[in-house]
Amino acid sequence: MNAASTDVGTPLLELRDLSVSYRTTEGALPAVRGVDLTVRAGEVVGVAGESGCGKSTLATTVLRLQPRDAAVTGEVLLAGADVLTMGWGDLRAARWADASIVFQGALHSLNPVRRVGDQVAEPITLHEPTVGEDEVTARVRDLLEQVGLPEGSARRYPHQLSGGQRQRVMIAMALACRPKLIIADEPTTALDVMVQAQILDLLAQLVRDLDLGMVLISHDLSVLADVCDRVAVMYAGRVVEFGAADDVFGDALHPYARALSRAFPRIGDPAARYAPAGLAGDPPDLRSLPHGCSFAPRCPLAIDRCRDAEPPLAPHATGSDGNPRLAACIRAGEQW
Ligand code: ADP
Ligand code: MG
Repeated sequence: MNAASTDVGTPLLELRDLSVSYRTTEGALPAVRGVDLTVRAGEVVGVAGESGCGKSTLATTVLRLQPRDAAVTGEVLLAGADVLTMGWGDLRAARWADASIVFQGALHSLNPVRRVGDQVAEPITLHEPTVGEDEVTARVRDLLEQVGLPEGSARRYPHQLSGGQRQRVMIAMALACRPKLIIADEPTTALDVMVQAQILDLLAQLVRDLDLGMVLISHDLSVLADVCDRVAVMYAGRVVEFGAADDVFGDALHPYARALSRAFPRIGDPAARYAPAGLAGDPPDLRSLPHGCSFAPRCPLAIDRCRDAEPPLAPHATGSDGNPRLAACIRAGEQW
């Protein structure tokens, strides 16, 4: 959002060669493979890709919320401190106060028998025990106002609110301890189209007003297109293309990113979660990845050499923002 702030200071989030593998009864399932990603204050970085490509695994790993059966390697730096090696005390502080997550299911995450004001207050009273009761009440009121909820919402129960209002409550909760980074994992997927647009507007406005950094995750490119500054497209656990949102959506380098952006779905189309229109087949089974490029079996441009080795994510052009455009494809520089 704010180009001037994208190249100064310590990044809010830095993933370095992050890999996450789940132990399953049928063997190791590498859900995230060697991901590098940087998010700075004032910018929205999108993460796109079909269902199952590792987006939620990436999100939960940032706050070490992944299940016990996940093996994680690499580094996750939150404001310079590695989340993967920090002690529980620091980790508790980092959750909510450095970064927080907004998930898709606002319906299911709120406690149906507690007033929403009390639920928004909870992270404040837990993480900032010295804050007095009156101040907590005032902060909750401000938070609910900030996310556009009508006055008096604090006293309501979740069932008295619409789906969009409940998602606003979730966003207020995520902001409660004044984090600098918000990770929003499919934050609008359960909502209808009009409400989706309102929630995206709200998120974009919060990034601007509070100078936050945001990772916005969606299978739906139409959700990412308007809001993101830069976008990472994931396939089979890897980032296969990275660059300025306009470049990736307008003129993708990687055949998978191009298929996704060509199939630009209607906002909210549930079918868009799975194979994009015009792209045959399914993503590979992560437990038995094909040799070479994992997209080759579905790729209309695949040649023999694509099956030799997995192509590294490498610069192929200069982006409209002046930064290198990255793609993991040996044919990315060609005209096709
Ligand atoms: P996305 O959010 O892009 O849909 P996920 O991160 O949820 O992708 O899943 C990536 C892969 O990891 C999928 O193959 C999924 O089945 C697998 N996976 C996710 N969570 C677990 C888990 N707890 N145990 C084993 N496999 C998992
Ligand atoms: Mg997901």
